[in-house]
Amino acid sequence: MGTEPDLELVKLTKRYGDTTAVDAISHRFKSGVYACLLGPSGCGKSSTLRMIAGHEDVSDGAIVLSGRDVSHLPPAKRGTAMMFQNYALFPHLSVRDNVAFSLRMAGVDKTERHRRADEMLELVEMTALSDRKPDQLSGGQQQRVALARALITRPQVLLLDEPLSALDPFLRIRMRAELKRLQRELGISFIHVTHGQDEALALADEIIVMNNAVIEQAGSAREVYNTPKTAFVARFMGGHNVLELPEGHIALRSDEMTVEAAGAGRIDGRVTGIEYQGTHVALTAEVVGGQEVTALLPDAAFLKTPKDLGEVIGLNWEDRVAHPVSA
Ligand code: ADP
Repeated sequence: MGTEPDLELVKLTKRYGDTTAVDAISHRFKSGVYACLLGPSGCGKSSTLRMIAGHEDVSDGAIVLSGRDVSHLPPAKRGTAMMFQNYALFPHLSVRDNVAFSLRMAGVDKTERHRRADEMLELVEMTALSDRKPDQLSGGQQQRVALARALITRPQVLLLDEPLSALDPFLRIRMRAELKRLQRELGISFIHVTHGQDEALALADEIIVMNNAVIEQAGSAREVYNTPKTAFVARFMGGHNVLELPEGHIALRSDEMTVEAAGAGRIDGRVTGIEYQGTHVALTAEVVGGQEVTALLPDAAFLKTPKDLGEVIGLNWEDRVAHPVSA
């Protein structure tokens, strides 16, 4: 206790002129967590990350790392390190010298900085390419170098700004597993900014959903997905219907809805779309008030009682799967 290097944001605020990009957010990141800041473009994720890193001034509030207010310290003095989206490698330096760069700035002698750089290159499986220049590397390899370069400072918290967005979809999934492996091996906290809910679900111990400069909901990936508190979170996480019923708004997972004969469910709807997705069929229906609802049915279940476009059906769900959400 006390010595745990957790990171706390206290009413952290960022203003750019008249724009409030981050509005008094408070959150505590537990030590050793893989956290994702998730939300649509412009919601304040990068500003939050850059303030934690020290690359952006704090307008108000504080950043406390291991009990120490680091809000106004230069980036290299905070115990954090940042990996940038574009990797920002020096083109004229070898892989090894790129990784060792911050140690050179800190006046560490050549033998020691090469030893530590080689250690980091081994960690990211880049030993064989340590004499190459960045332009002789693939995107995925450049990313490994950028990671090694950030980790060599032995940060308590690694900050990653959309680290996978420059990679093709195949490589993105491979590097995603790689990031998770590294985080587990190192046991330090990773705070990863993304606008992709799949990426956050796959990686995060904790997801912090941001919207309009505030934290809309924070919790484990399962909590946020299964029990969204607001209509925004339910919609943004995907796989949910948000229904406005006389008794209020509810969120329902599409895969927890069933289809019955007209009048036999809780609400009736007219089928507006039938999409075959391999293992499932996504059936869309228009219900009261013109709202669209999607039921994701296992292929076999759909085939037992197939429905047609324009047909009126009953939609059903169990009480336990309906979560009240605020608008
Ligand atoms: P996100 O990372 O979620 O896309 P940002 O933190 O980049 O969001 O931006 C949040 C808001 O702050 C946006 O409205 C954006 O236009 C604004 N913003 C970001 N950086 C600057 C800047 N340097 N100057 C002025 N406004 C900015």
